[in-house]
Amino acid sequence: MGVIVVTGIPGVGKTTVMQKAAEGMDISFVTFGSVMIDIAKELKLVKDRDEMRKLSLEQQKQLQIKTAGKVGKMKNVIVDTHCTVKTPKGYMPGLPEWVLKELQPTAIVIVEADPQEIYNRRAKDTTRDRDPDTVEKIMEHQMMNRAAAMSYATLTGATVKIVYNHDNALDVAVKEAEPVIQ
Ligand code: AMP
Ligand code: MG
Repeated sequence: MGVIVVTGIPGVGKTTVMQKAAEGMDISFVTFGSVMIDIAKELKLVKDRDEMRKLSLEQQKQLQIKTAGKVGKMKNVIVDTHCTVKTPKGYMPGLPEWVLKELQPTAIVIVEADPQEIYNRRAKDTTRDRDPDTVEKIMEHQMMNRAAAMSYATLTGATVKIVYNHDNALDVAVKEAEPVIQ
């Protein structure tokens, strides 16, 4: 099956959707951000995963390269990551050329929901230090991610599937995601 990349803006529920879709299948699951935070902590750069996107762009890039090197060695895997990371300087590509070369994904899943739904979910989640984005900014971020995903597709030949994870419709999202990992 190779590498499937699953993306979606913070708070959309991408981890939940993909873990459910992969249940009972012989496929492992890796969160790019978790590998990255371990490396960042070892280097004593940050204490918390939500601090990483505020590091200098060069530091984020170096962490991204190291993480891609590790994750790229894993086979038959779903990689939970981001099409773009929202930094104070703008949207940073989550899968620039050097990451794509390591991962060589065959499919990219984008988990989406209505901007208002995402806004409400973030407000409820106190476990994370989410950005206080407006509904309009959330919409912008999702649009940027679609554009980024298609550019990654042109570089790799990966397919791009949008999966809607609307409120109270997790099962629908899981069903939509399933064919990608079968
Ligand atoms: P997450 O747990 O998916 O929200 O990821 C935590 C953090 O890891 C993100 O906020 C980013 O700082 C970082 N991260 C995850 N994926 C990437 C990527 N592909 N490129 C750069 N940074 C990433
Ligand atoms: Mg997640």
